[in-house]
Amino acid sequence: MDIGIINKEDNMNVNVVKHGWELYTPVEWFALYPTLIEKYGRTCYKSEDKTTKESSAKFIKMLIKSGHHSVVEHLGITVKITCDRACSHQLVRHRLAAYSQESQRYCDYGYKGLNVIVPPKFNLAVGTYNSENKNVFEDLEGEQYEIGTNEFVFLNSVYEAYDGYSVARDLGIKPEDARVLLPNATKTEVVTTYNLRQWRHVFEDRALNPRAQWQIREIMCSILQYFGKVLPDFFGDQSAKLTGDFSDFDLTQKINPSKLCCDPHKCNCHK
Ligand SMILES: Cc1cc2nc3c(=O)[nH]c(=O)nc-3n(C[C@H](O)[C@H](O)[C@H](O)COP(=O)(O)OP(=O)(O)OC[C@H]3O[C@@H](n4cnc5c(N)ncnc54)[C@H](O)[C@@H]3O)c2cc1C
Repeated sequence: MDIGIINKEDNMNVNVVKHGWELYTPVEWFALYPTLIEKYGRTCYKSEDKTTKESSAKFIKMLIKSGHHSVVEHLGITVKITCDRACSHQLVRHRLAAYSQESQRYCDYGYKGLNVIVPPKFNLAVGTYNSENKNVFEDLEGEQYEIGTNEFVFLNSVYEAYDGYSVARDLGIKPEDARVLLPNATKTEVVTTYNLRQWRHVFEDRALNPRAQWQIREIMCSILQYFGKVLPDFFGDQSAKLTGDFSDFDLTQKINPSKLCCDPHKCNCHK
C-alpha cells in the first residue's frame, strides 16, 4: 500500500512468535495446596481429627468426585498466556477470573516490528520476516516466500495492516485508534488467574473438548499437562485424559517439574 515514508532505521519486520504460557504463581506454593484444601474442607464435616500426612489426596478426590467443588475455589493459580488477539477473546469469555492484558491503547507498536502468532496451515516457523519489494518475503536465512504461497498470503496481509498502523501513528493518530488496523494475528499477553474449580471448568471447555479452537486448546492442554504433574490430586483425573505431549507450549523453560525443590506429597518442608 506504501502510503507512508518508512525510514531505513524503521523496523517493519513481521516477527512470528510462539503461543504458550508461563507459570506466574510461585511453584513452591503448590506444596501447600493439598493440605490447605483439606484443612478448609474438613470444617464442613468437623473431621479435622482424621487429618494425617497422607490423608489430603483421598479427601480431595472425594470432594471432586462428590461434586463438592466449592471447597477448591479457596485457592487459585496464575499463568501468563501468550496468544493472538482472536484467541485472547475466547480466553476472556471465562468470567470467573482476573485478567491483566497487554493494552493496545497504551502500547505503541509503530515501526517496532509486529509480533504475530501464525496458524499452522500457513506453514511459517518462528522467526523474523521482511520484504524489500512487496512481491516476496524473506527470512533471516534468506529463504524466500513468493506470491501464490500460503506463507506469502499471511505475511503480506499482516504486513499491509501493520504498514497502515505505522503510517497512522506517523500521522498523529493515537495507538487506541490506530489499533483497529492491527490484525487478529497480533500477539498479546494475558496474565490469567482462575481458582482451582474454574481451571477445571476451563480445561473441560478448552482442553478436553475436541471442538475447542486449536490455539487455545494447545495452550490449555499444555497447562493441564503441567498441573496434572504438580497438583495431581486436583488435576490428575483430567490430565490422564490428554493424548500427546504439550510440554513444548510451556514457555517458562526454567520450570522442570522433575526439578522441584521437593516432592509435595512426600516431604514436610512446606508444612
Ligand atoms: C467450542 C466452543 C465454541 C464456542 N462458540 C462460541 C460462539 O460461536 N459464540 C460465542 O459467543 N461464544 C462461543 N463460545 C463461548 C461460550 O459460549 C462461553 O461464553 C465460554 O466458553 C465461557 O464459558 P462459560 O459460559 O462456561 O462461562 P465461565 O465464565 O467460564 O463461567 C463458569 C461457569 O460459571 C457459571 N456462570 C458464570 N456466569 C454465569 C451467569 N451469569 N449465570 C449463570 N451461571 C454462570 C456457569 O456454570 C459457567 O459454566 C464457545 C465456546 C466453546 C468451548
